[in-house]
Amino acid sequence: MASIYKALIITPKTPTRLEILNPGYLVVSKEGSIEEVTKRDPRRRYKNHRFVDHSDKLIIPGLVDSHNHLPQYAFAGIGGKELLSWLKTYTFPRETLFKDSTLATEAAKVFFKDLIKNGTTTTATYVTIHKGATEAAFMAAKKAKIRALIGKVMMDRRSPRALSEKTATSLAEAQELIDRWHDPEGRLQYILTPRFALSCSAELMEGVARLAREKNLPIQTHLSENLNEIAAVKKLFPKAQSYTDLYNRLGLLGSKTLMAHGVHLSPAELKLLKKTQTTIVHCPTSNRFLMSGTMPFRSYQKLGVKMALGSDVAGGYSLSLFNEMREAIESSKSLAVSTDGKSGAPMTLAEAVYLATLGGARAVGLGEKVGSLHKGKNADFLVIDYRRLSPMGADDYEKPEQILSRLIYRGGPEVITGVFIGGEKV
Ligand SMILES: [Zn+2]
Repeated sequence: MASIYKALIITPKTPTRLEILNPGYLVVSKEGSIEEVTKRDPRRRYKNHRFVDHSDKLIIPGLVDSHNHLPQYAFAGIGGKELLSWLKTYTFPRETLFKDSTLATEAAKVFFKDLIKNGTTTTATYVTIHKGATEAAFMAAKKAKIRALIGKVMMDRRSPRALSEKTATSLAEAQELIDRWHDPEGRLQYILTPRFALSCSAELMEGVARLAREKNLPIQTHLSENLNEIAAVKKLFPKAQSYTDLYNRLGLLGSKTLMAHGVHLSPAELKLLKKTQTTIVHCPTSNRFLMSGTMPFRSYQKLGVKMALGSDVAGGYSLSLFNEMREAIESSKSLAVSTDGKSGAPMTLAEAVYLATLGGARAVGLGEKVGSLHKGKNADFLVIDYRRLSPMGADDYEKPEQILSRLIYRGGPEVITGVFIGGEKV
Protein backbone atom coordinates (compact mmCIF):
# COMPACT_ATOMS: atom_id res chain seq x y z
CA MET A 1 0.00 0.00 0.00
CA ALA A 2 1.32 3.49 -0.83
CA SER A 3 2.28 5.11 2.46
CA ILE A 4 3.72 8.18 4.14
CA TYR A 5 5.75 7.55 7.29
CA LYS A 6 6.43 10.41 9.66
CA ALA A 7 9.43 9.83 11.94
CA LEU A 8 12.89 10.97 12.87
CA ILE A 9 14.77 9.94 9.73
CA ILE A 10 18.54 9.37 9.64
CA THR A 11 20.24 8.27 6.43
CA PRO A 12 23.81 8.43 5.10
CA LYS A 13 24.60 11.21 2.67
CA THR A 14 28.32 10.62 2.09
CA PRO A 15 30.86 8.23 3.63
CA THR A 16 31.35 10.73 6.45
CA ARG A 17 28.06 12.64 6.70
CA LEU A 18 24.51 11.87 7.64
CA GLU A 19 21.28 13.51 6.63
CA ILE A 20 18.91 14.04 9.54
CA LEU A 21 15.24 14.96 9.17
CA ASN A 22 13.55 15.65 12.48
CA PRO A 23 10.82 15.01 11.77
CA GLY A 24 10.82 13.80 8.20
CA TYR A 25 8.36 12.13 5.88
CA LEU A 26 9.21 9.01 3.92
CA VAL A 27 6.87 8.60 0.96
CA VAL A 28 6.67 5.06 -0.41
CA SER A 29 4.86 4.08 -3.60
CA LYS A 30 2.64 1.06 -3.80
CA GLU A 31 5.34 -0.63 -5.89
CA GLY A 32 7.72 -0.26 -2.94
CA SER A 33 10.06 2.49 -4.07
CA ILE A 34 10.82 5.79 -2.36
CA GLU A 35 8.91 8.66 -3.95
CA GLU A 36 10.25 11.33 -1.68
CA VAL A 37 12.02 12.02 1.61
CA THR A 38 11.11 15.47 2.85
CA LYS A 39 10.91 17.73 5.87
CA ARG A 40 7.67 19.30 4.61
CA ASP A 41 4.40 17.52 5.28
CA PRO A 42 3.58 16.08 1.84
CA ARG A 43 0.12 14.75 2.64
CA ARG A 44 -1.73 17.22 0.44
CA ARG A 45 0.19 16.00 -2.59
CA TYR A 46 -0.38 12.30 -1.91
CA LYS A 47 -4.12 12.06 -1.24
CA ASN A 48 -4.35 8.31 -1.70
CA HIS A 49 -1.43 7.39 0.54
CA ARG A 50 -1.95 5.88 3.96
CA PHE A 51 -0.45 8.05 6.71
CA VAL A 52 1.56 6.33 9.43
CA ASP A 53 2.55 8.48 12.37
CA HIS A 54 5.82 7.26 13.86
CA SER A 55 6.62 10.58 15.51
CA ASP A 56 8.24 8.83 18.47
CA LYS A 57 10.22 6.42 16.29
CA LEU A 58 13.39 6.47 14.21
CA ILE A 59 13.63 5.33 10.60
CA ILE A 60 16.99 4.31 9.11
CA PRO A 61 17.87 2.41 5.93
CA GLY A 62 17.91 -1.39 6.08
CA LEU A 63 21.34 -2.72 7.03
CA VAL A 64 23.75 -4.41 4.63
CA ASP A 65 25.80 -7.29 6.03
CA SER A 66 28.56 -7.66 3.45
CA HIS A 67 30.14 -10.82 4.85
CA ASN A 68 28.75 -13.84 6.67
CA HIS A 69 28.69 -17.64 6.58
CA LEU A 70 25.29 -19.32 6.79
CA PRO A 71 26.46 -22.78 7.98
CA GLN A 72 28.57 -21.32 10.77
CA TYR A 73 25.64 -19.60 12.51
CA ALA A 74 25.01 -22.78 14.52
CA PHE A 75 28.22 -22.36 16.52
CA ALA A 76 28.21 -18.55 16.84
CA GLY A 77 29.91 -17.50 20.06
CA ILE A 78 32.00 -20.64 20.35
CA GLY A 79 35.64 -20.97 19.41
CA GLY A 80 38.02 -18.12 19.96
CA LYS A 81 41.00 -19.96 18.49
CA GLU A 82 43.06 -18.42 15.74
CA LEU A 83 41.81 -18.66 12.19
CA LEU A 84 43.48 -21.79 10.82
CA SER A 85 42.87 -24.02 13.85
CA TRP A 86 39.37 -22.57 14.27
CA LEU A 87 38.57 -23.59 10.69
CA LYS A 88 39.75 -27.15 11.37
CA THR A 89 38.06 -27.51 14.75
CA TYR A 90 34.67 -25.87 14.18
CA THR A 91 34.08 -24.73 10.63
CA PHE A 92 35.01 -27.68 8.45
CA PRO A 93 33.17 -30.34 10.54
CA ARG A 94 30.04 -28.19 10.55
CA GLU A 95 30.22 -27.40 6.82
CA THR A 96 30.63 -31.11 6.05
CA LEU A 97 27.13 -31.69 7.45
CA PHE A 98 25.66 -29.54 4.68
CA LYS A 99 25.87 -32.46 2.31
CA ASP A 100 22.48 -33.18 3.85
CA SER A 101 20.10 -30.78 2.09
CA THR A 102 17.38 -31.19 4.72
CA LEU A 103 19.74 -29.98 7.42
CA ALA A 104 20.86 -27.18 5.10
CA THR A 105 17.27 -26.11 4.50
CA GLU A 106 16.49 -25.87 8.21
CA ALA A 107 19.70 -23.93 8.87
CA ALA A 108 18.97 -21.52 6.01
CA LYS A 109 15.46 -20.76 7.26
CA VAL A 110 16.72 -19.82 10.72
CA PHE A 111 19.62 -17.83 9.30
CA PHE A 112 17.65 -15.53 7.00
CA LYS A 113 14.85 -15.09 9.52
CA ASP A 114 17.39 -13.98 12.13
CA LEU A 115 19.19 -11.67 9.72
CA ILE A 116 15.90 -9.86 9.11
CA LYS A 117 15.09 -9.81 12.83
CA ASN A 118 18.43 -8.02 13.30
CA GLY A 119 17.57 -5.42 10.67
CA THR A 120 19.66 -6.77 7.81
CA THR A 121 17.84 -6.33 4.52
CA THR A 122 20.74 -7.11 2.17
CA THR A 123 23.30 -9.83 2.77
CA ALA A 124 26.37 -11.33 1.09
CA THR A 125 26.44 -14.93 2.22
CA TYR A 126 28.73 -17.95 1.90
CA VAL A 127 27.12 -21.38 1.97
CA THR A 128 29.32 -24.51 1.61
CA ILE A 129 30.75 -26.42 -1.35
CA HIS A 130 27.42 -28.25 -1.69
CA LYS A 131 25.16 -27.37 -4.58
CA GLY A 132 22.09 -28.72 -2.79
CA ALA A 133 22.78 -26.61 0.30
CA THR A 134 23.26 -23.54 -1.89
CA GLU A 135 19.93 -24.21 -3.65
CA ALA A 136 18.34 -24.52 -0.19
CA ALA A 137 19.82 -21.18 0.82
CA PHE A 138 18.44 -19.45 -2.28
CA MET A 139 15.01 -20.93 -1.66
CA ALA A 140 14.99 -19.86 2.00
CA ALA A 141 16.18 -16.35 1.08
CA LYS A 142 13.43 -16.08 -1.52
CA LYS A 143 10.82 -17.07 1.02
CA ALA A 144 12.22 -14.63 3.58
CA LYS A 145 12.08 -11.87 0.89
CA ILE A 146 15.54 -10.63 1.85
CA ARG A 147 17.97 -9.19 -0.73
CA ALA A 148 20.77 -11.69 -0.89
CA LEU A 149 23.96 -12.39 -2.76
CA ILE A 150 24.60 -16.05 -2.17
CA GLY A 151 27.46 -18.24 -3.30
CA LYS A 152 28.51 -21.85 -3.19
CA VAL A 153 31.92 -22.01 -1.55
CA MET A 154 34.67 -23.21 -3.91
CA MET A 155 37.59 -25.32 -2.58
CA ASP A 156 39.69 -27.55 -4.78
CA ARG A 157 42.87 -28.07 -2.79
CA ARG A 158 44.39 -28.34 0.69
CA SER A 159 40.95 -28.94 2.15
CA PRO A 160 39.46 -31.83 4.14
CA ARG A 161 38.49 -34.60 1.76
CA ALA A 162 34.76 -34.15 2.42
CA LEU A 163 35.06 -30.47 1.46
CA SER A 164 37.21 -30.83 -1.62
CA GLU A 165 35.94 -30.54 -5.18
CA LYS A 166 37.38 -31.09 -8.60
CA THR A 167 38.19 -27.78 -10.26
CA ALA A 168 35.94 -28.41 -13.25
CA THR A 169 33.03 -29.58 -11.08
CA SER A 170 33.31 -26.52 -8.90
CA LEU A 171 33.08 -24.19 -11.89
CA ALA A 172 30.34 -26.20 -13.59
CA GLU A 173 28.14 -26.24 -10.48
CA ALA A 174 28.62 -22.51 -10.00
CA GLN A 175 27.53 -22.06 -13.61
CA GLU A 176 24.35 -24.11 -13.01
CA LEU A 177 23.48 -22.08 -9.92
CA ILE A 178 24.09 -18.82 -11.79
CA ASP A 179 21.73 -19.88 -14.58
CA ARG A 180 19.10 -20.86 -12.09
CA TRP A 181 19.27 -18.06 -9.51
CA HIS A 182 21.20 -14.99 -10.63
CA ASP A 183 18.75 -12.16 -11.19
CA PRO A 184 20.38 -8.71 -11.09
CA GLU A 185 16.98 -7.02 -11.43
CA GLY A 186 15.43 -9.01 -8.58
CA ARG A 187 16.38 -9.64 -4.96
CA LEU A 188 18.64 -12.65 -5.43
CA GLN A 189 22.06 -12.63 -7.02
CA TYR A 190 24.76 -15.20 -7.39
CA ILE A 191 28.14 -14.24 -5.97
CA LEU A 192 31.22 -16.25 -6.91
CA THR A 193 32.76 -17.53 -3.68
CA PRO A 194 36.26 -19.02 -3.78
CA ARG A 195 36.95 -19.55 -0.04
CA PHE A 196 40.47 -18.10 0.03
CA ALA A 197 43.80 -18.57 -1.70
CA LEU A 198 44.78 -21.42 0.62
CA SER A 199 41.96 -23.68 -0.51
CA CYS A 200 41.82 -22.74 -4.20
CA SER A 201 44.13 -23.58 -7.08
CA ALA A 202 45.26 -20.83 -9.45
CA GLU A 203 43.26 -22.60 -12.15
CA LEU A 204 40.06 -22.38 -10.10
CA MET A 205 40.57 -18.72 -9.26
CA GLU A 206 41.25 -17.89 -12.92
CA GLY A 207 38.05 -19.72 -13.80
CA VAL A 208 36.19 -17.59 -11.26
CA ALA A 209 37.62 -14.40 -12.75
CA ARG A 210 36.58 -15.54 -16.23
CA LEU A 211 33.01 -16.28 -15.12
CA ALA A 212 32.80 -12.95 -13.31
CA ARG A 213 33.89 -11.07 -16.43
CA GLU A 214 31.60 -12.98 -18.77
CA LYS A 215 28.48 -12.60 -16.64
CA ASN A 216 29.26 -9.37 -14.77
CA LEU A 217 29.08 -11.18 -11.44
CA PRO A 218 30.26 -10.14 -8.00
CA ILE A 219 33.00 -12.08 -6.21
CA GLN A 220 33.60 -12.60 -2.50
CA THR A 221 36.61 -14.08 -0.77
CA HIS A 222 38.98 -13.58 2.18
CA LEU A 223 42.19 -11.52 2.18
CA SER A 224 44.98 -11.05 4.73
CA GLU A 225 43.01 -11.93 7.83
CA ASN A 226 45.65 -13.68 9.92
CA LEU A 227 49.46 -13.59 9.92
CA ASN A 228 49.86 -17.39 9.71
CA GLU A 229 47.43 -17.46 6.80
CA ILE A 230 49.43 -14.77 5.01
CA ALA A 231 52.69 -16.70 5.55
CA ALA A 232 51.08 -19.87 4.17
CA VAL A 233 49.85 -18.03 1.05
CA LYS A 234 53.34 -16.66 0.48
CA LYS A 235 54.78 -20.16 0.62
CA LEU A 236 52.15 -21.57 -1.68
CA PHE A 237 52.39 -18.80 -4.29
CA PRO A 238 56.04 -17.67 -4.11
CA LYS A 239 55.87 -15.69 -7.34
CA ALA A 240 53.23 -13.28 -6.10
CA GLN A 241 54.52 -10.10 -4.52
CA SER A 242 51.77 -10.16 -1.91
CA TYR A 243 48.42 -11.76 -1.10
CA THR A 244 46.64 -8.91 -2.88
CA ASP A 245 49.01 -9.10 -5.84
CA LEU A 246 48.18 -12.79 -6.16
CA TYR A 247 44.45 -12.09 -6.41
CA ASN A 248 45.19 -9.27 -8.83
CA ARG A 249 47.27 -11.50 -11.12
CA LEU A 250 44.47 -14.05 -11.15
CA GLY A 251 41.95 -11.37 -12.12
CA LEU A 252 39.85 -11.39 -8.97
CA LEU A 253 40.03 -7.72 -8.00
CA GLY A 254 37.40 -5.28 -9.23
CA SER A 255 34.56 -2.93 -8.39
CA LYS A 256 32.21 -5.81 -7.51
CA THR A 257 34.69 -7.82 -5.45
CA LEU A 258 34.35 -8.13 -1.68
CA MET A 259 37.56 -8.92 0.20
CA ALA A 260 36.76 -9.81 3.78
CA HIS A 261 39.07 -8.65 6.60
CA GLY A 262 42.18 -7.09 4.99
CA VAL A 263 43.67 -6.65 8.44
CA HIS A 264 47.34 -6.72 7.47
CA LEU A 265 47.96 -4.89 4.19
CA SER A 266 51.02 -3.08 2.86
CA PRO A 267 50.80 0.34 1.18
CA ALA A 268 51.37 -1.35 -2.21
CA GLU A 269 48.43 -3.68 -1.59
CA LEU A 270 46.18 -0.82 -0.56
CA LYS A 271 47.12 1.04 -3.71
CA LEU A 272 46.12 -1.97 -5.77
CA LEU A 273 42.78 -2.30 -3.98
CA LYS A 274 42.05 1.37 -4.51
CA LYS A 275 43.02 1.31 -8.16
CA THR A 276 40.76 -1.64 -8.86
CA GLN A 277 37.94 -0.25 -6.65
CA THR A 278 37.89 -3.47 -4.69
CA THR A 279 36.04 -3.35 -1.36
CA ILE A 280 37.50 -4.40 1.97
CA VAL A 281 34.77 -5.74 4.19
CA HIS A 282 35.66 -4.73 7.72
CA CYS A 283 34.77 -7.49 10.21
CA PRO A 284 35.88 -6.04 13.55
CA THR A 285 34.10 -8.50 15.87
CA SER A 286 35.58 -11.49 14.09
CA ASN A 287 39.00 -9.82 13.92
CA ARG A 288 39.00 -9.63 17.71
CA PHE A 289 37.29 -12.97 18.40
CA LEU A 290 39.79 -14.92 16.28
CA MET A 291 42.67 -12.69 17.39
CA SER A 292 43.43 -11.73 13.81
CA GLY A 293 44.37 -8.14 14.61
CA THR A 294 42.89 -4.66 14.32
CA MET A 295 42.21 -3.29 10.86
CA PRO A 296 43.55 0.29 10.68
CA PHE A 297 40.33 1.83 9.40
CA ARG A 298 41.46 5.45 9.31
CA SER A 299 44.57 4.89 7.21
CA TYR A 300 42.56 2.87 4.66
CA GLN A 301 39.87 5.51 4.59
CA LYS A 302 42.41 8.29 4.05
CA LEU A 303 43.79 6.41 1.05
CA GLY A 304 40.27 6.17 -0.38
CA VAL A 305 39.87 2.39 -0.27
CA LYS A 306 36.24 1.27 -0.60
CA MET A 307 34.93 -0.32 2.59
CA ALA A 308 31.85 -2.07 3.94
CA LEU A 309 30.92 -3.92 7.14
CA GLY A 310 30.39 -7.61 7.81
CA SER A 311 29.35 -9.69 10.80
CA ASP A 312 31.47 -12.61 9.54
CA VAL A 313 29.26 -14.95 11.54
CA ALA A 314 30.59 -17.18 12.99
CA GLY A 315 34.08 -15.69 13.19
CA GLY A 316 31.84 -12.93 14.54
CA TYR A 317 29.40 -14.02 17.21
CA SER A 318 26.42 -11.80 16.39
CA LEU A 319 24.25 -11.17 13.34
CA SER A 320 23.53 -7.66 14.60
CA LEU A 321 25.19 -4.91 12.59
CA PHE A 322 24.60 -2.57 15.54
CA ASN A 323 27.04 -4.80 17.36
CA GLU A 324 29.41 -4.59 14.40
CA MET A 325 29.23 -0.78 14.18
CA ARG A 326 29.89 -0.54 17.91
CA GLU A 327 32.86 -2.88 17.64
CA ALA A 328 34.20 -0.99 14.62
CA ILE A 329 34.18 2.27 16.54
CA GLU A 330 35.49 0.81 19.78
CA SER A 331 38.33 -1.09 18.12
CA SER A 332 39.39 2.06 16.27
CA LYS A 333 39.47 3.85 19.64
CA SER A 334 41.65 1.11 21.13
CA LEU A 335 44.00 1.42 18.17
CA ALA A 336 44.17 5.20 18.60
CA VAL A 337 45.11 4.77 22.25
CA SER A 338 47.66 2.03 21.68
CA THR A 339 49.38 3.95 18.85
CA ASP A 340 49.34 7.22 20.77
CA GLY A 341 47.08 8.74 18.14
CA LYS A 342 49.29 7.73 15.18
CA SER A 343 46.54 5.54 13.74
CA GLY A 344 44.43 8.68 13.31
CA ALA A 345 41.05 9.68 14.68
CA PRO A 346 38.65 6.89 15.70
CA MET A 347 35.71 6.01 13.46
CA THR A 348 32.70 8.29 13.87
CA LEU A 349 29.04 7.27 14.24
CA ALA A 350 28.32 8.58 10.74
CA GLU A 351 31.15 6.53 9.25
CA ALA A 352 29.95 3.39 11.00
CA VAL A 353 26.42 3.92 9.68
CA TYR A 354 27.76 4.44 6.16
CA LEU A 355 29.71 1.17 6.23
CA ALA A 356 26.65 -0.71 7.46
CA THR A 357 24.34 0.74 4.80
CA LEU A 358 25.39 2.65 1.69
CA GLY A 359 29.00 1.44 1.82
CA GLY A 360 27.79 -2.14 1.69
CA ALA A 361 25.27 -1.42 -1.04
CA ARG A 362 27.94 0.25 -3.20
CA ALA A 363 30.32 -2.63 -2.58
CA VAL A 364 27.98 -5.09 -4.25
CA GLY A 365 26.84 -2.82 -7.06
CA LEU A 366 23.51 -1.94 -5.45
CA GLY A 367 24.37 1.63 -4.52
CA GLU A 368 21.74 3.08 -6.84
CA LYS A 369 19.03 0.77 -5.49
CA VAL A 370 19.40 0.49 -1.73
CA GLY A 371 21.58 1.58 1.21
CA SER A 372 20.08 5.02 1.85
CA LEU A 373 16.69 6.70 1.89
CA HIS A 374 16.54 8.72 -1.29
CA LYS A 375 14.08 9.25 -4.10
CA GLY A 376 13.99 6.41 -6.60
CA LYS A 377 15.55 3.77 -4.37
CA ASN A 378 13.82 0.72 -3.04
CA ALA A 379 12.11 1.33 0.28
CA ASP A 380 14.30 -0.89 2.47
CA PHE A 381 14.12 0.57 5.97
CA LEU A 382 13.86 -0.12 9.69
CA VAL A 383 11.47 1.37 12.21
CA ILE A 384 13.15 1.71 15.59
CA ASP A 385 11.43 2.27 18.92
CA TYR A 386 14.28 4.35 20.29
CA ARG A 387 12.68 4.97 23.67
CA ARG A 388 13.40 1.35 24.49
CA LEU A 389 17.09 2.21 24.26
CA SER A 390 16.87 4.61 27.13
CA PRO A 391 16.94 3.37 30.72
CA MET A 392 14.32 6.00 31.59
CA GLY A 393 11.99 5.78 28.58
CA ALA A 394 11.22 9.27 27.27
CA ASP A 395 14.01 11.47 28.61
CA ASP A 396 16.27 14.46 28.04
CA TYR A 397 18.61 12.63 25.66
CA GLU A 398 16.60 12.71 22.49
CA LYS A 399 18.73 14.76 20.12
CA PRO A 400 19.08 12.79 16.88
CA GLU A 401 22.82 12.22 17.43
CA GLN A 402 22.13 10.94 20.93
CA ILE A 403 19.43 8.60 19.70
CA LEU A 404 21.75 7.26 17.02
CA SER A 405 24.58 6.80 19.50
CA ARG A 406 22.30 4.87 21.81
CA LEU A 407 21.10 2.74 18.92
CA ILE A 408 24.64 1.73 18.03
CA TYR A 409 25.77 1.16 21.61
CA ARG A 410 22.61 -0.35 23.09
CA GLY A 411 20.59 -1.50 20.09
CA GLY A 412 19.63 -5.01 19.11
CA PRO A 413 16.69 -6.78 17.48
CA GLU A 414 14.40 -5.95 20.40
CA VAL A 415 14.19 -2.26 19.45
CA ILE A 416 13.36 -2.89 15.79
CA THR A 417 9.58 -2.79 15.43
CA GLY A 418 9.43 -3.02 11.65
CA VAL A 419 11.70 -4.28 8.87
CA PHE A 420 10.62 -3.22 5.38
CA ILE A 421 12.06 -4.52 2.12
CA GLY A 422 10.76 -3.00 -1.10
CA GLY A 423 8.11 -1.17 0.93
CA GLU A 424 6.70 -4.36 2.38
CA LYS A 425 6.92 -5.35 6.04
CA VAL A 426 8.76 -8.66 6.25
ZN1 LIG B 1 34.56 -15.15 6.53
